[in-house]
Amino acid sequence: MPKTVKRGDARKPCADYPLSTFFPDSESKGGKPTAGEAAALRVCGQCPIAARGACLEDALRYPLAEQYGVVGGTTAAQRRLIIRARRAASAVEDVLVEVA
Ligand code: SF4
Repeated sequence: MPKTVKRGDARKPCADYPLSTFFPDSESKGGKPTAGEAAALRVCGQCPIAARGACLEDALRYPLAEQYGVVGGTTAAQRRLIIRARRAASAVEDVLVEVA
């Protein structure tokens, strides 16, 4: 659960939906979101961009706590991809620093 922008925050669209909306019965493995995920993503799509970005960054900061469900406008599979991409970019940066 994000630490600064919580699902259930009265100013956020997700506050108007049960938590189960964001934890659908089936989750995609990385491809097209399931119908349940798509419904939750539509709710996140109503969230102000800055709030959604902060929500996503919090989820990425606590990947173990946020390894399931839709949060910050992403599915769990999408967050795993973002985390992998960031780790790869960081590894490239480390190499570039070593050779510089
Ligand atoms: S991005 Fe989604 S989960 Fe995060 S605060 Fe907005 S509506 Fe809620």
